[in-house]
Amino acid sequence: MPNVNMTSGKTRRAEVAGGGFAGLTAAIALKQSGWDVTLHEKGPELRAFGAGIYLWYNGLRVLEGLGALEEVLEGSHTPPTYETWMHNKSVSKETFNGLPWRVMTRSHLHTALANRVRALGIEIRVNSEAVSADPEGRLTLQTGETIEADLIVGADGVGSKVRDSIGFEQDRWDSTDGIIRLIVPRKKQELGHGEWDNTIDMWNFWPRVQRILYSPCNDDELYLGLMAPAADPRGSRVPLDLEVWVEMFPFLEPCLVEAAKLKSARYDRYATTRLDSWTRGKVALVGDAAHAMCPALAQGAGCAMVNAFSLAQELETASSVEDAIVDWEKRIRPITDRCQALSGDYAANRSLSKGNMFTPAALEAARYDPLRRVYSWPQ
Ligand SMILES: Cc1cc2nc3c(=O)[nH]c(=O)nc-3n(C[C@H](O)[C@H](O)[C@H](O)COP(=O)(O)OP(=O)(O)OC[C@H]3O[C@@H](n4cnc5c(N)ncnc54)[C@H](O)[C@@H]3O)c2cc1C
Repeated sequence: MPNVNMTSGKTRRAEVAGGGFAGLTAAIALKQSGWDVTLHEKGPELRAFGAGIYLWYNGLRVLEGLGALEEVLEGSHTPPTYETWMHNKSVSKETFNGLPWRVMTRSHLHTALANRVRALGIEIRVNSEAVSADPEGRLTLQTGETIEADLIVGADGVGSKVRDSIGFEQDRWDSTDGIIRLIVPRKKQELGHGEWDNTIDMWNFWPRVQRILYSPCNDDELYLGLMAPAADPRGSRVPLDLEVWVEMFPFLEPCLVEAAKLKSARYDRYATTRLDSWTRGKVALVGDAAHAMCPALAQGAGCAMVNAFSLAQELETASSVEDAIVDWEKRIRPITDRCQALSGDYAANRSLSKGNMFTPAALEAARYDPLRRVYSWPQ
């Protein structure tokens, strides 16, 4: 059923800036609740950036609500345990009381969402860069074109132009550590004896701080996250300094050799953005534009998807877009704020190295069911 503007009698229109996980989710969810939607992506095509990603129960429930879950489950992986090693010895194995979680390549998740966007007939405009928005409901593009809409969604990532053009008050900072993220062949046979289907979070503090997050995504692909302080020139070097990584993690040499071949590898520090508000008039910010967070709890995209999905829910029966998006932020933001704060604290203190750190507080966002708007799953 179309979602109608009470004054004009026309179907409501949303312009969504950004074709990442947040923008795709917002576009699908709004379209499913009767909006006309145009999705603007500044790149020449809809595509994922980066390597692998963890989705928890909250994100998987969003996928269910979007009709994309089945495609995502096919070709992704739930490891038997999340294992933590310190100096190459196992210190904990966590199974989260059976809370569903899943590891996949980013392109796998992105493709499933983009397929859903196309299946719903959402208008996609590539090479369409948003340069500004205003609270009255206007989006201006790089070409100079200005489009009026009932809702503007700023889903244009951590460097959001939609956000910066409006002048939200913001705190932004980068963390001490950063990470090189890669997808390599699994090489399971060559790794020899071991529980190589697990996620293994391998920490070393001596003689240098280096961590590898080993995450199988499916039968063939392995996501490696190689973490080192930004101040360490060898640990943060790209392409990979093979010697320095093999020295610390010799048993992963077959995978690290593959990783060192990837000339496009990037070292990224973790960015955090905290805003005074996520909304202004008819503009709502979702995803990293609103709340970029450290990845310790692997919830940036999960929260982004929950928030984008919840935005469409809140607008379903609302007579005023402006009021509804204020209510949306009040309802949903506290979960993200707590997750962002704890994730930042974990990253700053390298807390995951202790093992058994997925406490009830750490899993709060993961346990949220956006479809039923309740926390599911025992703590
Ligand atoms: C090391 C690391 C590991 C992480 N691991 C996880 C994890 O395991 N699980 C998890 O849930 N989260 C994880 N995250 C967080 C997650 O990657 C982000 O929160 C998520 O990708 C944000 O999605 P987004 O759509 O908001 O932004 P983006 O992914 O940045 O997408 C923005 C999109 O907008 C486009 N764009 C940019 N500017 C414009 C413009 N002006 N106009 C139009 N289009 C524009 C871009 O090209 C892009 O397509 C991790 C983050 C890091 C740094």
